[in-house]
Amino acid sequence: MSSPDGARIELVAGGPANTWLVGDDDEVIVIDPGTPAPVLAAAGEREILAVICTHGHHGHVAGAPEVAHRDESPIALHPLDRRDWREVHATDPTIDMEDEGVFGVSDVTLEVVHAPGHSRGSVLLYCEALGAAFTGDVVGERGPVPHGAGFPDWTKQMDAIGARVLTLPSQTRLLTGHGEEFTVATADRSFSSWYSAGPDLSGRD
Ligand SMILES: [Zn+2]
Repeated sequence: MSSPDGARIELVAGGPANTWLVGDDDEVIVIDPGTPAPVLAAAGEREILAVICTHGHHGHVAGAPEVAHRDESPIALHPLDRRDWREVHATDPTIDMEDEGVFGVSDVTLEVVHAPGHSRGSVLLYCEALGAAFTGDVVGERGPVPHGAGFPDWTKQMDAIGARVLTLPSQTRLLTGHGEEFTVATADRSFSSWYSAGPDLSGRD
């Protein structure tokens, strides 16, 4: 899970969403902090360079200000999700992420890949050097991730999965906002069945 002597990926489980840390022994970037205390404990003495939210839904942003506060770290969100953010927090994030934006930590970079549908401002964070993409709620093992009782824009979300996830190298690990990780190759094999299943969630287990 790491490049030699360099960046590695850590999962902080047990919150409302999976929280991921990317970094080394000195510094980390935090992705999607829901519950602050375990995230700050996992970061330990390391400097938190930035807090990045894959999208604006509650479980992915709830802990962001408190985690960012300790080291006065910036918080990054795609501006199209600012309305969702404001349902949770009174003060705005500090960085407006754009497609192809880049964050550096340790010896690796995270590239912002806009993948709308689950929310208008949903992004993936792609780390080529570590062979991983943090997918938020763009896609999970069971397909496009719904929000609440349904899909805000199923067609757009499926288009984003096709254009922005399946085009990554096939062995790329997809590190999800909920549940277990899988790979681009697995997603590719499942894509047509997700398509056939369609956006109707009634009758699924
Ligand atoms: Zn969501």
